[in-house]
Amino acid sequence: MNNFNQQKSHPTAFPFLFNSGEMGDLIISKDWSETPVGPVENWPHSLRTTLGIMLHSRFPMFLGWGPQLTCFYNDAYRPSLGENGKHPSILGIPANEAWAEIWHIIKPKVDKVLGGHGATWEEELLSPIFRNGKMEDAYWTYSYSPVIDEQGEISGILVTCREVTSDFNLKKSIGESERKFRNLVMNSPMSIAILRGPDFNIELANRAMLKGIWKKNEQEVIGKNLLRVFPELKDQKFPALLKQVLRTGKPIKENDSLLFIKSEQGLKKIYCDFEYDPLFEEDGTASGIMITLNDVSEKIEANNKLIDTEEWLRIAVDASELAIWEIDLITDKIKYDEKFISILGHDSPKKLTLHDLRKQLYPADRRNIVKKAFDEALITGTYKYEARLIKPDDSIIRISTMGRVFYDGKDRPSKIIGTLRDITQEEQYRLALEKSERRLRNFIFNAPVSIAVLTGADYIVEIINESALKLLGKTNAQMLNKPFLQSLAELDKEQAKLLLDSVYYSGKSFSASEFPIKLNRHGMFEKIYVNFEYDPLINSEGEIYGIMVVGTDVTEQVLTRKNVEQSEARFKLLADSMPQFVWTSDKEGNLNYFNSASYDYSGFSEEQLLYGGWINVIHPEEREENLLAWKSAIKSGKDFIFEHRFRRYDGTYRWQLSRAVPLNDDHGKIQFWIGTSTDIQEIKEQEEQKDYFISMASHELKTPITSIKGYVQILQSMYKGSDDAVLIRSLDRVHVQIEKLTSLIGDLLDVSKIRTGSLTFDQQKFDINQLIREKIEEYKIIHPTFKIEFKNNASIPVFADRERIRQVLINLISNAIKYSPQNANILLKSKIEKHKVSISVKDQGIGIDKSYQEKIFERFYRVEGKSEKTFPGFGIGLFIASEIIRQHKGDIGVESKPGKGSRFYFSLPLFQK
Ligand code: ADP
Repeated sequence: MNNFNQQKSHPTAFPFLFNSGEMGDLIISKDWSETPVGPVENWPHSLRTTLGIMLHSRFPMFLGWGPQLTCFYNDAYRPSLGENGKHPSILGIPANEAWAEIWHIIKPKVDKVLGGHGATWEEELLSPIFRNGKMEDAYWTYSYSPVIDEQGEISGILVTCREVTSDFNLKKSIGESERKFRNLVMNSPMSIAILRGPDFNIELANRAMLKGIWKKNEQEVIGKNLLRVFPELKDQKFPALLKQVLRTGKPIKENDSLLFIKSEQGLKKIYCDFEYDPLFEEDGTASGIMITLNDVSEKIEANNKLIDTEEWLRIAVDASELAIWEIDLITDKIKYDEKFISILGHDSPKKLTLHDLRKQLYPADRRNIVKKAFDEALITGTYKYEARLIKPDDSIIRISTMGRVFYDGKDRPSKIIGTLRDITQEEQYRLALEKSERRLRNFIFNAPVSIAVLTGADYIVEIINESALKLLGKTNAQMLNKPFLQSLAELDKEQAKLLLDSVYYSGKSFSASEFPIKLNRHGMFEKIYVNFEYDPLINSEGEIYGIMVVGTDVTEQVLTRKNVEQSEARFKLLADSMPQFVWTSDKEGNLNYFNSASYDYSGFSEEQLLYGGWINVIHPEEREENLLAWKSAIKSGKDFIFEHRFRRYDGTYRWQLSRAVPLNDDHGKIQFWIGTSTDIQEIKEQEEQKDYFISMASHELKTPITSIKGYVQILQSMYKGSDDAVLIRSLDRVHVQIEKLTSLIGDLLDVSKIRTGSLTFDQQKFDINQLIREKIEEYKIIHPTFKIEFKNNASIPVFADRERIRQVLINLISNAIKYSPQNANILLKSKIEKHKVSISVKDQGIGIDKSYQEKIFERFYRVEGKSEKTFPGFGIGLFIASEIIRQHKGDIGVESKPGKGSRFYFSLPLFQK
């Protein structure tokens, strides 16, 4: 039976498991981390203590711990689980699994205890159990009691039990004849009475009882209810004992018990030995009780022996935090238990006098509270106070005392027995609670959101903050302490009540967003939108006592959004009615909308176009460049302009010009992009025809012009020495015009070469400064009136096509001359920057408006102004120049102010050795 195993239970790791038998060892060797209670190291103190008591007890005990009631039991309990039954498998599993077969019997009791209704007591209850390989009927007497944890919560249920199957079976077979005793009873010198039924009707009382104890005659008692005849018994232990006998069918016997009986002489104290014997019916149920009583007052009094009530009180209060004490009012002697000593702050057992006790009371409380309570107790019989007490270490605690005055035979107070409780912690909790409630109120009043606290099923407004009053458009007087819904008559009452009730009765929160309500705000009806939440308020007993309403007015936000939605809808309507493709993208460049024309054209569905699918509409040849250009626009925030072909639903491709602009918010931050794509297929085709024509025409013109040029040169050399001035001048003019025509045709040919990608370059190393100087010299001869400056004597080698760069220089210098009708000062510069050389041509001419500065590098682009009209030109010089520079991996650009002049610049890579 004794399964102690001292080697396994390690004394230091978990002292509460030390020497705690087989179950202790099983607990220690089990891996608890997978169970609901977790590893042993984390078990709370309360669990450890309870297990400590349980495992060391020889009384069968079972503990269900935590929300799942994880099972523990001790060695004494183990045999009742039988062989091949639940032991040891139920250790550590939830109780409802462990006791699945009788859970329907156990659960109501568990709920009662967990519900805070105290301990249960059941006698001889039939609870069949699976053991010894089968279901067996078993009878149990047991009690379920709550185990309170450190937080004061019920965290477990301790079941103390005894199997009484065999007693029960035995008792069933016993029949008792009542009559047999009747004669004996009446004639007995012992005081005997017989009580019947649950009301304890006095059926019989012998003379000794009537005369000696009850001091009544037969008529006064027979056939009457015991407690009616002796109401003073109600406050004594006897009714409970009697009930117990009836219920259990078991006799009760006590010696030297104290009994108070009221007679004409007043309350009489009797010490007695008594026995309550059950009287059974044929069917074995106890229906009556035989009381046998022997007055031993004399003996007791003679020996001046006071009964020791401490013992049973101690049992009663053992599990609680109560200390017990007793003051003999005659001798001033005091008695107390160990708990009392410890509450008072003495660690070793100590002999304390009443004087010592009083000295420990806080002086002011002793005078103002304790003394008063004592004087009152002598009148009312009840001694009760809360006061401060100073411990030997000078710390101050708060105690609560409750006692009852006992009287001697002459009705004089003879002693007080009472309890003492340390309520310091409770008091602190109470204060903390008050504080937190104050804080809550403070928080509510200062909260930026609207808050109201409603209590009771009528939802009385107990607290409401400024913000809530403002939101509702009501005054404090209209709302406070009134039913919430009554003050808000304009609401849809039924709906509002339904919502509040659903929270109040279910305990589940409710929240709504952008909920429209119509309010009467100071006499004006307004529709607003609110986000709100109803949260149940739950008191310490777990009951719902009200609802906290938290809300914010989101009207503005909702209206703004609605506006946006409306304008978005308008935009979509507009976009859908356009033949062009219209699309939008978020600021990251993800295309998130296409108008219906886009879908009609591509034949793609929404899923196919959105989320990047649009790239499949782009002609494969342009995809890569398209993505690069789009990414760079997103990165730089500059307009996106791109020409590409879109695949139509029938598989044919058409050229489109796409353009997207970013839309910024008030802070200049890009919010989204809006883009359009316009069909330029026909323009493209016309351009191609134009290009084709230009290319054809210039080729066709080139041959006759070249031969004209040749003939003019022959004529010039033939008439070099002629006196015919008109002829000479005419030939010179023809030569200049032919030169112009040649260069124009050359330019036109270049344009078509650029279009077809056949412009070729012959790169070599040369000194760019040298080239600039040569060019200036030539210009000085042709335009002697112009002042062209260049001051760099250094040599800057570049690797480029000398002829083409010369063409660029010619274009920039001749533009500078052409567009500077007033001022003929031109300044050229060259300078090295990193791996490049930058060349600039600055004039003081008419200048270019900002809006044209990029466009002038496009093909055939000329600024359309009054003044520009007077300058001859085609708008291709800068286009060719920029193409040449681009092919050399250089940059070209302009800075200019209308009326002030322009500065054109381009860069070329330096020659690298
Ligand atoms: P064009 O044959 O028309 O001069 P370009 O391509 O050389 O063709 O120049 C394009 C346009 O740029 C010109 O029509 C003119 O409006 C403008 N432009 C070029 N150079 C200058 C300059 N130095 N000053 C003012 N405007 C200029």
